[in-house]
Amino acid sequence: MLCLGIESTAHTVGAGVVDGKCDVLSNEMETYVPPKGGIHPREAANHHAERVVPVIQAAVEKARVGFSELELVSFSQGPGLGPCLRTGATAARSLSVSLGIPIIGVNHCIAHLEIGRGTTEARDPVLLYVSGGNTQVIAYMAGRYRIFGETLDIGVGNLLDKFGRGMGIAFPAGPKIEKLAAMNTDPYMPLPYSVKGMDISFSGILTAAEAKKREGAPTPQLCHSMQETVFAMLVEVTERALAHAEKDEVLLGGGVAANSRLRRMLGRMAADRGAKMFVPESHLCIDNGAMIAWLGLLMHRSGIRMPVTRTRIRQRFRTDEVEVAWRK
Ligand code: AMP
Ligand code: MG
Repeated sequence: MLCLGIESTAHTVGAGVVDGKCDVLSNEMETYVPPKGGIHPREAANHHAERVVPVIQAAVEKARVGFSELELVSFSQGPGLGPCLRTGATAARSLSVSLGIPIIGVNHCIAHLEIGRGTTEARDPVLLYVSGGNTQVIAYMAGRYRIFGETLDIGVGNLLDKFGRGMGIAFPAGPKIEKLAAMNTDPYMPLPYSVKGMDISFSGILTAAEAKKREGAPTPQLCHSMQETVFAMLVEVTERALAHAEKDEVLLGGGVAANSRLRRMLGRMAADRGAKMFVPESHLCIDNGAMIAWLGLLMHRSGIRMPVTRTRIRQRFRTDEVEVAWRK
């Protein structure tokens, strides 16, 4: 079975074609970069509306299939920015109706986890999902993907982007911050470490780092200290989730998974516990259509059906609301 998945939760509009063995036949995407400042939902949605058709066409061409061979279409139903989600959902509905194929709306966070299970050796991992808008630690337990810890305010990518913006670094700031941190030769500068139970919060760190910047702290030292602090928080919560859920696999997902310092820290923790770490290929870590297609396939195969009338987007769609019929 061939499924085309459409992703449009935030700044990226993507389309990918995946088959029933989780072979990714194509994975096309385009990212909206705001000319200045942060992401504006309406402007990102306008970008997606303009680009979604060419992206879908490119995905079908790259996969070397015809539209008539697609048997299922899936889309990111949430969580995400309303106007962006609606653009992807509308494109998916049009495809479903015009091709006469079923449609399925999927949870974006679960898609990050399932593409990791589908394309790596991970079987029952704890997912550390670190992206612009989301930061969650997720694992399967008793029929659902449970959130073992999450950010209480902004996503870690968003923190890095905001921090970068204050220093004149354009979006996405994460990669540049990683480079600057690697250049640092100064000692670690303490920043607020805020893990509350299993949850974490980033806003205090942002305020503190910005204050240190105003006091004249060197940028590489700040980037290094920022990375060390927030990644240690993420690794701590992930380790506790591993212990609590009694799992021995860690999976990384989301755009921040590209960071090599985070990978090293997480890998070290996993090794110390005798656990294994998995990182999907980077085009499958960031927001992408292929992961949406794969989760659509899993859901469809488990018997889940969704009439078009039930495909309304869900901006605050929670990971643990979904009954995971395909893992029973
Ligand atoms: P996503 O929301 O999953 O598409 O990921 C985008 C986020 O990942 C942005 O906030 C980027 O700043 C961040 N990001 C990308 N590459 C890196 C990196 N090498 N280190 C840290 N953050 C990164
Ligand atoms: Mg994402």
